[in-house]
Amino acid sequence: MRANVDLGYATVALLGPRRLTQRLRGTYQRAAAGVVEFGRPDDLSEESLRGVGFAVVAFPAADANSQSNADADAGWHRALAAAGAALPVAVERVAETTSGSITLVGGGPGDPGLITAAGLDALAHADVIFADRLAPEVTHELAPGVRVVPVGKRPGHHPVAQSEIQAQMIQAALSGETVVRLKGGDPFVFGRGGEELVACREAGVDVHVIPGITSAVAVPEHAGIPVTFRELSRSFTVVSGHDPLGERELEHLAGLSRSGATIVLLMGVATLPQTVSGLTRHGLAGDTPLAVLEKGFSPDERNTFTTLATAVVDTAGCASPAVTVIGPVVDALTRGTRTGPTGPGSGSVARS
Ligand code: SAH
Repeated sequence: MRANVDLGYATVALLGPRRLTQRLRGTYQRAAAGVVEFGRPDDLSEESLRGVGFAVVAFPAADANSQSNADADAGWHRALAAAGAALPVAVERVAETTSGSITLVGGGPGDPGLITAAGLDALAHADVIFADRLAPEVTHELAPGVRVVPVGKRPGHHPVAQSEIQAQMIQAALSGETVVRLKGGDPFVFGRGGEELVACREAGVDVHVIPGITSAVAVPEHAGIPVTFRELSRSFTVVSGHDPLGERELEHLAGLSRSGATIVLLMGVATLPQTVSGLTRHGLAGDTPLAVLEKGFSPDERNTFTTLATAVVDTAGCASPAVTVIGPVVDALTRGTRTGPTGPGSGSVARS
């Protein structure tokens, strides 16, 4: 890669397979006013090349002099000519091997003691850590000089866009760094870990996943709620309440719950009034136990126990992050010991 190019105010078009152009992107972003990538000659047109002042064809370095590279080069030149673009064109031979890697680490539900041994080991060997807001604070295990980049949403700060996080991690790995992406809970439970894994693979980056303990199970457990319990619940459904649930989802969940399933809602505080009224509309009994478990495993954790009928009033002051549990398991371990709510406004709040 050319390290010292200065392309001033030109936009550069990188032409070639995405796994190769992605490797060049960072270098050209630093050198030029803008970068656009094209994976196929057919994508070139007068319109799509508007503003482009320079083009780079990317080849795999391994078979630099092969016939297929010569054919691809000719194909790109033909397509540029057909698009009416008379641009300077350079060729880059892109090495596809790198010692860098990305490990998606599940950090568990917030207590640094609840990250796995494999996760700690990955952290100890990282050059750079991209940490989510809900990831646990793990600092003493880190290598000296490690960079920690906070990328999660924090109050008063703009979150870093998902595409930007992915681009930064991939760039770091391609430059040879050992990257850890530290997430709350498990990377594959509403953690966007799946899409990050796909992006890493597409970029040709060596990528691994280390599971974590999900808050969907651990936060209820910590509050004394088993998500399954013999003869009370033999399944549990984990649902995102980030967006209001649709009518069919509510009907389905109410049916599941009536047949004994536990419902666990993540990101469901803001939409709880809609969820509660929807489940009620679809026939879930008002005395169904419900708990909102805020900020589990932190000094500010707070558990609110109520019922479907009284939930909206009793949880009005609840805030994210919280796990909501609906079903008889909420009371499974405390029957007769907790002063259960019996009417509106009587939800019991426990701080531990
Ligand atoms: N991948 C994560 C979930 C990410 S979605 C996991 O497996 O746990 C973020 C949501 O998880 C929050 O809005 C909240 O519903 C829940 N959550 C995560 N950590 C939590 C905690 N310590 N206490 C309460 N809820 C938590």
